[in-house]
Amino acid sequence: MKKKSIFSVLLVSIVSIGMLAGCGQSTDNKSGNNNKKYTIACDAKFAPFSIEENGTYKGIDVELLDAISKEEGFEYDLKPMDFNGIIPGLVSNQLDGAISAITITDARKQTLDFSDPYFESGLSLVVNKNNTSINSVNDLTNKSASIKKGTAGSKFAEDNKDKYNLTLNYFDDSPSMFQAVENNNADFLVEDYPVIAYKIKVDPGTSLKMVGQKLDTANYGFAVKKGSNKELLDKFNEGLKKLKENGKYDEIVSEYIAK
Ligand code: GLN
Repeated sequence: MKKKSIFSVLLVSIVSIGMLAGCGQSTDNKSGNNNKKYTIACDAKFAPFSIEENGTYKGIDVELLDAISKEEGFEYDLKPMDFNGIIPGLVSNQLDGAISAITITDARKQTLDFSDPYFESGLSLVVNKNNTSINSVNDLTNKSASIKKGTAGSKFAEDNKDKYNLTLNYFDDSPSMFQAVENNNADFLVEDYPVIAYKIKVDPGTSLKMVGQKLDTANYGFAVKKGSNKELLDKFNEGLKKLKENGKYDEIVSEYIAK
C-alpha cells in the first residue's frame, strides 16, 4: 500500500514536471520563431574581416554581423571555421548562415542564396619581394601557386593550371598560404585584394608584395543555403540597409580600411 502511494506521488510528480516542461517548451517555441539562435560561420583567419584576439573575434564581417543582429533583434552563435568547410556546412544545414568574405558567384548561387552585396573586393596576384620574374599574370608559366582551399583564388589558379602549367599547393587558411610564398616554397599566391592590402599594412616587415593589376572585381555577400533561412537573409539585408543609412557601416569599415 505504502509502496503504491509513493509510486503515485512519483507518477504525479513526473507527469507534472512533464507538463511544466511542456509548457516551457511551448512558450519557448512561440517566441522561438523570433528568438531562434542562428549558427553563423565566419572565416577563422581572415583579417580584416575576421580577426581572433584573446579568444574573441573582431573585424569587418564579425562587427557588421553583430551590429545587424542588434539592429534586427536576433541571436546567433559565431562559428569561426576554415573557409573550405563553410559552404558544405551551409548546404548540409550545420550552419544557418555565413559571413566569411564570401564572393558572390553564379556557380555558388546554384547552392546558396546571397544577401545584397556588402563589400567590393577582387583578386590580387602576390609574390615574394625578392621575386623579380613575376610582374603580372603573363609571367606565370611553369610557376608554383600557393592557394587556399575552396576559394575564388584557388578557382583562378585551377582555371589557369593548364594554360600556365602551374603546380598547385593547397592550404587551409590564409596565413599558411602566405607563409609558403614568404618562405619561397611557392612562387605566387592569389588573395582577395583587401586582405593582402591589410596584411601588408599591418605587417610592413612581410616579404610579400602585390604585382600587376587587380585580376577581377567581385562582391561579398552574406550566405544561406539556397531556399532556406529566408527570414535570416531578409533580416541581414534590412539591417545592412539601416547600418549604411545611420553611418555604422562606414564606422566599422573605416576602423580597418582607410578610405
Ligand atoms: N572571397 C574569397 C571567396 O569567396 C575568399 C573568402 C575567404 O577566404 N574567406 O572564395
